[in-house]
Amino acid sequence: MNAELRPDVVFDVIVLGAGIAGYTSAIAAAELGRSVLVLEKEEFVGGSTAMSGGFFAFAGTDEQRAQNIGDDDVLLFDDLRNVGGHANDVELVQFYVDRQAAAYRWLRSLGISFSSVTISSGQSVARSHCTDPKRLLNRLEEVVRSGGLAQIHTGCRALELVRDHQGSVAGVTLDGANGRMTLHARGGVVLATGGFSRSPELLDIFAPEQAAAIPYGGLGNSGDGLRMAWLLGAGLRDMGAVTSTFGSHPDTTIAYHELLTAYYLGAIIVNTQGRRFVDESQSYKVLGDACLRQPDAIGYEIYDSVVRRNSKAGVPVSDLELPERRGRTITADTLEDLASKISVPPGPLVSTIDSYNAAVRNERVDEFGRAGLCNGVGDLIEISTPPFHAYPAKPLLSSTFGGLATTKDGQVVDVCGRPIAGLFAAGEVTGGFHGRAYMTGTSLGKGVIFGRAAGNAVARRCTP
Ligand SMILES: Cc1cc2nc3c(=O)[nH]c(=O)nc-3n(C[C@H](O)[C@H](O)[C@H](O)COP(=O)(O)OP(=O)(O)OC[C@H]3O[C@@H](n4cnc5c(N)ncnc54)[C@H](O)[C@@H]3O)c2cc1C
Repeated sequence: MNAELRPDVVFDVIVLGAGIAGYTSAIAAAELGRSVLVLEKEEFVGGSTAMSGGFFAFAGTDEQRAQNIGDDDVLLFDDLRNVGGHANDVELVQFYVDRQAAAYRWLRSLGISFSSVTISSGQSVARSHCTDPKRLLNRLEEVVRSGGLAQIHTGCRALELVRDHQGSVAGVTLDGANGRMTLHARGGVVLATGGFSRSPELLDIFAPEQAAAIPYGGLGNSGDGLRMAWLLGAGLRDMGAVTSTFGSHPDTTIAYHELLTAYYLGAIIVNTQGRRFVDESQSYKVLGDACLRQPDAIGYEIYDSVVRRNSKAGVPVSDLELPERRGRTITADTLEDLASKISVPPGPLVSTIDSYNAAVRNERVDEFGRAGLCNGVGDLIEISTPPFHAYPAKPLLSSTFGGLATTKDGQVVDVCGRPIAGLFAAGEVTGGFHGRAYMTGTSLGKGVIFGRAAGNAVARRCTP
């Protein structure tokens, strides 16, 4: 049970945002004996974390070994740098790599299990470890509350950071059930407020090309933390590297997140003219960008009954049966019928698929250089055995991977690289780690790894 918030009660640490980064920071600070207050703007906790696919990018795990998947820190590091276009901060990438095994073990020690390991965007081997994000959040909340050191208050929106007379961030002004008040923290404040995928204004400034994407992510992810820190002169990293994920049905709503990556199982993607426009084995973020440049920013994932057999029941994004059951997938016995059902000209669709099949048979070079199912891995499959299926999909802006400049300990630095005393950040509100693009599973992963680091660092600033 939470005590009522009162301005005269001073905490050691205030954490803003109750997603994976906020919870992990809070737990780390509480484990060091600090009193922690978690403020959540929405009436419910979880943010984007609760909506996520639950994939974590870990390397060298028991689950990988059980499937004979050879993976290690070196390969993970190289993949991360490659995905990020070598624009990501080496120190942050190395920090993630050095601590990913400990983060994995920590989650396992809390009873979190990973049901599957699949290959996904930006990975040269299968390393997306899937868990149930809601179960994970419940477990983290349990841990936060269990020690009695941390309180979680929902319906409390932080508005502004407060500095002490020496210029250190020492509290926050919030708007909650009892109106506005200012609360103080001895060690400082951790911003774990998520990204800005729900802020039309910030998207218009930093990523105007995303206007046609479906806005998604936690409802509270409107860049509040970013603005609060920006006001204090915080530096920003990778802000222009916002990309959307290709593969969501145009009618996707917050109630049910629908994302299908049939292209990693062997599907191709065509536009409304029945033409392919990209190498489908690339990161779904690259595919999202490519799709935004197509008419109506829509693409159709086209596959046949042979690809259909690659469906992975129960694995989000790879379960082809799920959208079929929801009536999202269009099916026909001939490509011509499929084309007319999705209002695509049949001639171009048939010739696109003929040409693709010829490349699969090595009779010609693929026009977009596709050489595998996902990131060059996996043998391509001809699309020739009926019935044929089409899944209409748009780019979905689920997350923004640019944000505040921090050190590896989550210390926010200003535009000149100087620490802003007392201000820490973790999770999607931060930038620098991903660089130009994102590897599946690294956003939840960074929430845990950098969340723990920020919680430790802010806790060290105060003596209990
Ligand atoms: C549909 C979807 C699928 C995804 N799948 C994956 C995946 O499988 N693997 C992966 O690695 N990543 C995935 N991501 C991205 C990942 O979920 C997020 O990047 C990550 O969960 C962010 O965690 P966070 O703790 O930083 O922010 P969040 O979980 O978004 O939490 C931030 C919280 O801060 C609150 N907040 C905001 N402003 C304030 C304020 N002023 N005061 C108080 N509270 C505030 C918000 O309401 C929110 O609850 C996915 C995202 C989405 C939307």
